[in-house]
Order: sequence, then structure tokens, then C-alpha cells
Amino acid sequence: MLFISKYANLRLILEPKRWKEIDGSKFLTDGLTVEFQNGQFSTKDAELVEKLKNTKAFGRDYWSGEKGKDELTPEAVKEINETKEYKEKLESKCPDCGKEFGSEASLRGHMLSHRK
Ligand SMILES: [Zn+2]
Repeated sequence: MLFISKYANLRLILEPKRWKEIDGSKFLTDGLTVEFQNGQFSTKDAELVEKLKNTKAFGRDYWSGEKGKDELTPEAVKEINETKEYKEKLESKCPDCGKEFGSEASLRGHMLSHRK
């Protein structure tokens, strides 16, 4: 399963490292961290896929780019780019008045005007 992020180097901590005590000795667990490269992360690990689909960031910071495929086809790249554009468009739209902006920064600036 291929996951796509709008952030080129998204880092997701699925399981934080933590101290575990076994028979009176303390061990630091490995934890589980996923790092996207160029906005992509691919895995065939079904358990990991499940974990990735169950975070709060799924659908917000990243999403699955393909429908069950593991390799990037030209169609998939096109789909990803369209999804990205769609996401970016959604994100640059004011939720209060629906006005669209070219960048997240200008939207943020605009949204301050609603807070009076
Ligand atoms: Zn507005």
C-alpha cells in the first residue's frame, strides 16, 4: 500500500519509545516511526497499513494514494497529483465564508479577520 503525504518528509510516530520493565531490568522499546520520502511511504506490512489508516493524521496529513496497488503507475501519479491539488484547494478555502486563497499563509491571515 502506498501512502502519500502533502509533506515531503512527514515523520509519524505510531508507537513512542518507552521504558519497559522485565524481571526488574529496564529496557527501552524500539517504538515505531514511519518516515515519508518525497511525500511517499510504501509498505506491504498489513499490520502497519492498518496502523497507518487508524491515526488522526490519516486523511489530513497523508492518505493512501492508490487503490490497493503497490507500484507507481503513470495513472497513479496523475491521481496523486490531482488529489494533492484537490487537498491544497480545500485547505486554502476559508471554512467561514468560502473564499479561496492561493496559499495557506494568506488564508490564515484572512481568517484572523473573522475573529473579532
Ligand atoms: Zn472568510
